[in-house]
Amino acid sequence: MSAKGRLFIVSAPSGAGKTSLVKALLERMEGIQVSVSHTTRAQRPGEVDGVNYNFVDKAEFKAMIEQNAFLEHAEVFGNYYGTSEAWVRAQMDQGVDVILEIDWQGGQQVRRLMPEAVGIFILPPSKAALMERLSNRGQDSEEVIAKRMAQSESEVSHYVEYDFIIINDEFTTALDEMASVIIADRVRIDRQREQHQGLLKDLLSGHSA
Ligand code: GDP
Ligand code: ADP
Ligand code: 5GP
Repeated sequence: MSAKGRLFIVSAPSGAGKTSLVKALLERMEGIQVSVSHTTRAQRPGEVDGVNYNFVDKAEFKAMIEQNAFLEHAEVFGNYYGTSEAWVRAQMDQGVDVILEIDWQGGQQVRRLMPEAVGIFILPPSKAALMERLSNRGQDSEEVIAKRMAQSESEVSHYVEYDFIIINDEFTTALDEMASVIIADRVRIDRQREQHQGLLKDLLSGHSA
């Protein structure tokens, strides 16, 4: 039985590049998956139900809250978002690492339940770049973009609650940094000790403690 997978909480102000970085990371790394959140937000053009999000209405979301289906859930920009607990636990039990792309409120809830989760906070190189990325993404109305920009300071104010900060200026540099965090976590002593019990036993077979 392989060691349990680890949980990574990735947060950022909207438009900082969290989704693009996570997508690129999964294309280059094995043994890691991103949790597909449930949301009541309207589907954007190009988004696929079950891939980008599980799109549900408010009644379905409320029913899931009542069934305790969520590891965490929060209201962000006037919509509800939540992480399926069963899916996350099943992946981790199989030894798969799981990334949660969630806001700071969800991050706090998950950390309370799983204090060993690793937090990664992504920052844009400047406010102007954030604004430009939200506009260039071409997915949200001006009103929605204004709302997201207005909320960016409140999201960023929570950066101290995370273990790592990545500045997404040059995309490939940010991607390398994110991969490094995951790789470093994979060789931590607790995980390696569990995964390589046989090797350690063999290497220490003649050693009397
Ligand atoms: P798979 O990609 O071959 O596992 O295909 P599935 O049809 O099982 O899942 C489709 C997508 O939905 C995948 O990206 C899964 O990560 C995601 N997914 C499946 N089940 C759940 C769930 O219970 N909760 C959440 N949040 N995502 C799920
Ligand atoms: P988030 O998931 O944090 O809201 P996205 O991944 O959707 O952000 O990225 C927002 C926009 O910024 C997208 O159009 C994306 O292509 C672009 N983007 C992401 N990273 C960079 C970068 N390093 N330099 C320039 N543009 C970027
Ligand atoms: P977007 O609508 O741009 O995809 O996401 C908007 C915000 O919702 C982002 O800050 C993102 O981190 C957050 N978010 C997405 N999924 C979840 C989730 O499952 N739980 C929580 N708490 N926040 C989420």
